[in-house]
Amino acid sequence: MLQSDKLVLHNFNAGPSVLPKEVFEEASRAVLNFNDSGLSILEIGHRTPLFVPVMEEARQLVKELMLLDDDHEVLFLHGGATTQFMQVPMNLLPDNGMAAYTETGTWANKAIKEAKLFGHVEIAGSSKEDNYRSLPKNLNVSPTAAYLHITTNETIAGTQWHTIPYDCGVPLVADMSSDILSRVIEFNKFDLIYAGAQKNMGAAGVNLVVVSKKILGRVERVIPTILDYRNHIKEASMLNTPPVFAVYVAMLTLRWLKQQGGVRVMEKRNGEKAKLFYDTLDTLPVFRGVVAKEDRSKMNAVFVMDDANLEKEFLDLCKKEGMVGVKGHRSVGGFRVSMYNALAIESVKAITDLMKHFAVSKS
Ligand SMILES: *Cc1c(COP(=O)(O)O)cnc(C)c1O
Repeated sequence: MLQSDKLVLHNFNAGPSVLPKEVFEEASRAVLNFNDSGLSILEIGHRTPLFVPVMEEARQLVKELMLLDDDHEVLFLHGGATTQFMQVPMNLLPDNGMAAYTETGTWANKAIKEAKLFGHVEIAGSSKEDNYRSLPKNLNVSPTAAYLHITTNETIAGTQWHTIPYDCGVPLVADMSSDILSRVIEFNKFDLIYAGAQKNMGAAGVNLVVVSKKILGRVERVIPTILDYRNHIKEASMLNTPPVFAVYVAMLTLRWLKQQGGVRVMEKRNGEKAKLFYDTLDTLPVFRGVVAKEDRSKMNAVFVMDDANLEKEFLDLCKKEGMVGVKGHRSVGGFRVSMYNALAIESVKAITDLMKHFAVSKS
């Protein structure tokens, strides 16, 4: 929650999105004077004794929070999740090989499009027929697939895998951009996880990649230096200049997460927030959730109004009351309320109260 001209703001942005206030404060101080060095974090070398410990702490915190085993390496890379759509198949999908993908929405489709540049793609399950308002229940994964790719949380469609297909029989790869570290997951059962930081883990400009060493080196193509995970592992995520400030903000957010009690505490809080939101949504006839109940995302709630004429009125009210980022994605319309780790339950209380108030005024 932030203040603007006495109005308390509640930030439901889908990404970049809300971060803990402590992180904003600490990051601001570091811009002026980093760790009492007299220098700004923006003007120090990445291989200096000032920054190397930041990168090391960020990687260590990820290992700790995800309970990773020694086979899993943690990298902070440039380019956002969109670069991973291409970098994953470039490193894991052999020229004449095949990878299985789940087709669950905008983000999964972007990943599929890039994978096709490198090999064959088999759709292991799709919810396209349902306009991505649910998730496929029975997956068909060929045992010859180089890997299965899932998008654990579809930020735009508002779906989330609550049952992870750990036992799909092939290496498992996931885009966790919008629900990373929001719930307890068996992270070691994934061979590769990637996530843009700007939704649940920090500022835009850096990407977390967790990769199992076992899965690398199986393709024969020539991989450009900067795109080969093995080079980044060898150089401890310092192959070239990393996005120093973005890594620092991610490290602060990870520290905050640990102080709060880790992933287990996040899962509990996110469960409470989502329950409050959806329970309210389901009691108000003016609003309607668009996603199948069992597949609803605890991070991004997508909903509409049956009377579309009222949508603008509700959005204007949100604006007046300091509710930021409630407008739905341009491709879906309606509304989207994002409830990432750093969003306080008070903010969910505020928007559900406003929804109730609006519903009463229309009945
Ligand atoms: C936002 C998002 C992306 C894209 O991230 P960029 O950092 O903008 O490349 C990919 N996948 C998911 C699930 C997202 O939410």
